Amino acid sequence: LTNFPYDHVLVLGLAKSGTAAARLLLQNGKNVRVNDKQANDADVIVNDLKARGAEIITGSHPLSVLDGMEIIIKNPGIPYDNPLLQEACRRDIPIITEIELAGNLSETAMIGITGSNGKTTTTTLTTEMLKKSSQPAKIAGNIGYVATEVAQSLKKDERMVLELSSFQLMGVKTFKPKIAVLLNIFQAHLDYHKTFENYKNAKCNIFANQGAGDYLVYNADDPIVAEAVVSAKSVKIPFSLKKRLEHGAWTDDTSIYFKNEKLMDKQDVVLAGDHNLENILAAICAAKLSGATNEAIYHVLTTFTGVRHRLQFVQNIKDRLFYNDSKATNMLATQKALSSFKQPVILLAGGLDRGNEFDDLKPFLENVKGIVLIGETKNKLRRVALEAEIPFIKMADHMKDAVKQAYNLSESHDVILLSPACASWDQYQTFEERGDMFIQAVHTLL
Ligand code: ADP
Repeated sequence: LTNFPYDHVLVLGLAKSGTAAARLLLQNGKNVRVNDKQANDADVIVNDLKARGAEIITGSHPLSVLDGMEIIIKNPGIPYDNPLLQEACRRDIPIITEIELAGNLSETAMIGITGSNGKTTTTTLTTEMLKKSSQPAKIAGNIGYVATEVAQSLKKDERMVLELSSFQLMGVKTFKPKIAVLLNIFQAHLDYHKTFENYKNAKCNIFANQGAGDYLVYNADDPIVAEAVVSAKSVKIPFSLKKRLEHGAWTDDTSIYFKNEKLMDKQDVVLAGDHNLENILAAICAAKLSGATNEAIYHVLTTFTGVRHRLQFVQNIKDRLFYNDSKATNMLATQKALSSFKQPVILLAGGLDRGNEFDDLKPFLENVKGIVLIGETKNKLRRVALEAEIPFIKMADHMKDAVKQAYNLSESHDVILLSPACASWDQYQTFEERGDMFIQAVHTLL
């Protein structure tokens, strides 16, 4: 740790990132106090950190844990209205997240990607494009790999491509990626950030410390983003689905371009949906700035079937295209998925009943020719489907039955889409399990 002038550090929250941060700080000779409400003295991790010299306080967050502390490394999930953090603010103790440490460790250029939606897809695409161009890269951050651990494992010249949430970016002090990507800013997470302004500011921390030698890739079609980046000091590289750009990635009706060069036809891209096209343009900018080749970009975009469970292309069976969008646990995501297709769709929907009535789905059901309903919300969705005059409405007891019925309804060139608009917990442990059941059921049709 070259630029971390604090000797007494409080690590708040012992999830994966807190544990990694505590270990790193101890290795660097810091005095580390760990406070976690849920952990207890029998935990293996607690004992490991104790053995390495940490002071551990579990079971509650007494204000006294702040005594003598110079800085707090907080788990991104802990909200700022926690009384302990409020007291820390009163005492002027800075609060950061583990991302700050990762930035401190990494000597190679980092790529940081944030936005309300599309982070995982863009981070994955960028990493794949770099790898395919023989540029070593590791994925990390919000996507599930702890950034400080990945940063420590980087080989010389290996890049870290970091997915960053607003929770992680809040409190950033010195962190700065060489290439920052800002995809979009919607109203989200207001329970945590309290105001839209706070949320936007957290997202903008991704470029707050950048200088003239850094790059900021941003969505020129998103008015909130376009306005927010005006203050950036880095070189701005826009992307747009709507207009020709001298310095960024863009599309017209048929093709994808970077600056004045055509990269490929849109129809060769496997990923569906305009929202994914935005993610693709962002990834192209980040990858091209890092030296990716056009061949590699073409290869990735013609083979990448999507992040698992997010409008993931599964299989073509007799010209029926199957997509798994099990991650669509709310109506907004299902609307997005339905907007991604122009051809007739057979939709598999339904799941946990949270009291929604689903009327807002109606305007998106225009090219849905059949719907197969599963789960607790079956009957509510059936009413909406009837009102939308969907020609075929079927009920199914389980996924295998639903897939079979959808297939029986289908003709050549139809899309068969699982996009439930509901959480999965009425029938499955997780949305991943639900998506896997769908994939399995599709494969049994082969
Ligand atoms: P995140 O990591 O930010 O949650 P993902 O890449 O996992 O984003 O995509 C999650 C969902 O967000 C997708 O299934 C889709 O419904 C929506 N989405 C993805 N990209 C975009 C985008 N660029 N604009 C709007 N919505 C998007």
